[in-house]
Amino acid sequence: MHTLESLLAAIAPTGPSRDILNPATGELVAKVAEHSVDDLNKAIAAAKKAQPAWAALGHEKRSELMMKAADAINENAEALAQLLTREQGKPLNGPNARFEIGGAEAWLRVAAGTPLENEVIKDDETGRSELTYKPIGVVAAIGPWNWPAMITIWQVAPALRMGNTVVVKPSEFTPLIVSALIHIMNTVLPEGVVSVVSGGRDVGAALTVDPAIGKVMFTGSTATGKAIIKSSADTVKRLTLELGGNDAGIVLPDVNPQEIAEGLFWGAFLNTGQTCAALKRLYVHESIADEVTKALVSVAAAMPMGDGTDENNVLGPLQNKKQYDIVADLVEKAKAGGGKVELGGNPDANQKGFFYPTTIVSGLKNDNALVQVEQFGPALPIVTYSNVDEAIEMANAVDVGLGASVWSSDKNKAREIAERLEAGTVWINSHGGVHPMVPFGGNKQSGYGLEFGVEGLKALGVPRVINS
Ligand code: NAD
Repeated sequence: MHTLESLLAAIAPTGPSRDILNPATGELVAKVAEHSVDDLNKAIAAAKKAQPAWAALGHEKRSELMMKAADAINENAEALAQLLTREQGKPLNGPNARFEIGGAEAWLRVAAGTPLENEVIKDDETGRSELTYKPIGVVAAIGPWNWPAMITIWQVAPALRMGNTVVVKPSEFTPLIVSALIHIMNTVLPEGVVSVVSGGRDVGAALTVDPAIGKVMFTGSTATGKAIIKSSADTVKRLTLELGGNDAGIVLPDVNPQEIAEGLFWGAFLNTGQTCAALKRLYVHESIADEVTKALVSVAAAMPMGDGTDENNVLGPLQNKKQYDIVADLVEKAKAGGGKVELGGNPDANQKGFFYPTTIVSGLKNDNALVQVEQFGPALPIVTYSNVDEAIEMANAVDVGLGASVWSSDKNKAREIAERLEAGTVWINSHGGVHPMVPFGGNKQSGYGLEFGVEGLKALGVPRVINS
């Protein structure tokens, strides 16, 4: 079982490196290997070499090894969470670092243990047609910095389960936790089956053009997703793209504001708002807007933000300066656009870390930048509406469609509205919860392809129909 120190020692770079700083304190967390495209090529060659034997093990043996890798994550969960907190910023406590490492383990187990049967499409006098799934080969996993451990597992676990080997390119902001996670898994898995190349955006780009890569699992911004569609086109790679979102929540006039306030809060501020499917725009019926705003502000004001190693905190800093600046700029635009700052909006210029206070802005017009642009941070805009058709129209009038939610005491009515929302997932009376068996994916420019469950496994296989 590792301590934080022994875990960092195990992944310490032997060649070129750079500093990773704690976003809460500015202190050095550790040095990380700065891998080059040369290193990438070696990792791809190793993955290619390891793939046939990994595929030949079959589902049962692969599942067994993946379960053991999940055990190894479990044994080292605390050290991994401590590292995640220091590198990403999210607190240990609450639905944060420990929760994320627990999620990584859970998703690995489900991908390992979910049966994927061949499908007999027809079996009659004209013959038998069976749909089977074969390994793709070598898969690239390119991830973001917000949920780096869990999202790495979301990409890697189904790929391994289906007999592929994987080269992981973590975000340049959170390479330590991903390197540590894969290091732990590699204490169990055969050599070359999964490796990490902790380089910059050039290394990511090189992965997407390499002819040895059969599929790219990408989670990140819509802009990078578009670049990957283009760069992978010449080699016709399969793609799963989990991209940006700007999720709307619609609150109907029949809600009890006190009852929904905590759900709204975590829907919007999970991981300090740095969550792909967080509630990013709140549409509230004008008859109840004041009460809902008041109840939400009261929950939000009571949630402590600070250094994540302090067990009291449940909100942390923005992970990096660039994201801090995006959030700060959008809040200034909200103020300039006539928004009323109900909470926050007043960052401390002298603080050490990238802390932006929990911010709620009401009275905004729908065309304000804080409503229209993904903030990816702790600043929620509230817009009122007078009839629900208008709310649905505003919710759908963006280019992205990852998640959405409807809040009402009438589930049937909420269900009808859910049918009209252009999003990959619609939650009723909650927002953002995911489950390892329930498919997850985006609509419009939030991407394509499904993750999780049986659909997620199928996405990491090449379909082969056998007619006999
Ligand atoms: P990003 O697009 O800047 O970076 C993501 C990854 O892509 C990084 O590893 C980066 O090095 C790599 N990369 C950059 N340029 C590349 C290129 N040309 N080719 C290949 N790889 C390249 O995204 P980010 O800022 O790390 O993440 C935040 C965004 O991710 C937000 O928009 C958020 O909504 C989205 N996100 C979506 C989901 C989802 O499931 N849909 C989940 C988490 C985050």
